Amino acid sequence: MPTPNFSPVHDRQRRTIRPHLPMRPLWLCRVCAAPWPCQPARLLLLMDYRRDRVGLSVYMAGILFDATADLMTLNPNPGPSPRELFDRFLAWTARQPF
Ligand SMILES: [Zn+2]
Repeated sequence: MPTPNFSPVHDRQRRTIRPHLPMRPLWLCRVCAAPWPCQPARLLLLMDYRRDRVGLSVYMAGILFDATADLMTLNPNPGPSPRELFDRFLAWTARQPF
């Protein structure tokens, strides 16, 4: 499975955009502390997979599997609902680019 490029991205002004990576097993962003994938992480993933949206969905399906195991272990009762997990990790990958 290809891995996305999580190296820092440089914008037009040569500022470094810090990669928004997940802190496991909490699955919170290491930069903004939002539930991962936060909005910047989603944007970076969409950029990495801009020519392979199916590949992004397959990659995030693997992430969904890992995150479900971690989050259900941390909070088993009540754990996150399958709908919440699906929407957070996978549903957004199938939407049309904005
Ligand atoms: Zn973030």
